[in-house]
Amino acid sequence: MSGDGTELVSSRRRGRIGKQGRDGLQKFPLGEEIVGRINALAAISETGEHLTRIFLTPEHRAAADLILSWMREAGMRAHLDAIGNVCGRYEGDRPGLHCLMLGSHYDTVRDAGKWDGPLGLISAISCVAELNRRGKRLAFAIEVTGFADEEGVRFASTLLGSRAVAGTFDESVLAGRDSDGVSMREALQKFGLDPDHIGAAARTRRELLAYIELHIEQGPVLEAEDLPIGVVTAIAGATRMAARLTGMAGHAGTVPMGLRRDALAGAAECIGAIEHFCRTDGNGLVGTVGYIHAMPGATNVIPGTVSFTIDMRAPTDMHRNRSVADIVRQIEAIAKRRDLSLQLDVTHENRTVPCAPWLKSQIADAIAAEGFAVFELPSGAGHDGMAMIDIADVAMIFVRCRGGISHHPDEHVELADADAGARVLLRVIENFRAR
Ligand SMILES: [Zn+2]
Repeated sequence: MSGDGTELVSSRRRGRIGKQGRDGLQKFPLGEEIVGRINALAAISETGEHLTRIFLTPEHRAAADLILSWMREAGMRAHLDAIGNVCGRYEGDRPGLHCLMLGSHYDTVRDAGKWDGPLGLISAISCVAELNRRGKRLAFAIEVTGFADEEGVRFASTLLGSRAVAGTFDESVLAGRDSDGVSMREALQKFGLDPDHIGAAARTRRELLAYIELHIEQGPVLEAEDLPIGVVTAIAGATRMAARLTGMAGHAGTVPMGLRRDALAGAAECIGAIEHFCRTDGNGLVGTVGYIHAMPGATNVIPGTVSFTIDMRAPTDMHRNRSVADIVRQIEAIAKRRDLSLQLDVTHENRTVPCAPWLKSQIADAIAAEGFAVFELPSGAGHDGMAMIDIADVAMIFVRCRGGISHHPDEHVELADADAGARVLLRVIENFRAR
């Protein structure tokens, strides 16, 4: 990265270092390639105005073909696997070595941003291309995987691509149907894949040295810290619950306040308690009531029944489980005091995926070597590492995104930050020491 008449210079901003050319302008060669490809991939969409790229659609095929061509251009052997993931392999200093796997997903939500997923995949390909340009081979192979479906938009089941690679693909989802009534089995066949051979995509723990994913943060923490890059500590587990409070509906004018059993006022107290509990936690706990429905739902009727959801996440399972138990006790106490009956069900639960300390420290070294402050943060959002943990130690590198916005067309990463992310990833690869 030197010897071309440029030198490293510090800028005013904390932790921002770029390359300065003879014209005095900062240059970001890796970042420019990455941003160009992000834009090229974003042009492959179901509709012109919005970015939507869904599993097993013609757009999925077109995107896969483009990514495979970039992989081959970077010196990799590349193919589409049995679930539609793009897989590239860059051999080490001799063929057949175990691999460091890098990757991210290339499907999107509807009306998506263009960075969530593709940034990690494209950055990994650019890092391999850089090694290839230098004729550099390492003591291990590098594989880059672009997962075909992480978001789970079409069949309401997430992590399909990475679960196939991890060998944990649930065959029962093949019978699931999309909103047009097409089953996943049919969609795979139409795409040219054999639903009975998804097992062929599975890899084993023996083949993989580690799985490392670069991804946009999808939150505002790095921006608030004025840092381009962060080391992820863990992908937070989540517990989701459905609550239903039942009191007594009644006339809004005739039932005195002291005689009411108002389910909505009770729910409001529960929501306040959840927020207060999480705000005062200080250990990364977050809790959200994202849905509420009051019945009968009329201006002049005291609400008799209220349903609401609770989503709780924390960086460790122990902390989440204790917090959930505490919140449940508080809700039970509120219901009892207000003479409301309570039904509370856990509707979804996934474990926390800790990032491996030995990988985190190698990422921290790379961030420090690039001249940035090392900053650790948990991931509140789910990622393919949640599936990959079953066959490899996992780690993640976060890149700052503007305003913490994601799953939205306004999602944005600065060129300098894309470049910084790729430089950190390249250092991690070049200095990688297997466990
Ligand atoms: Zn993502």
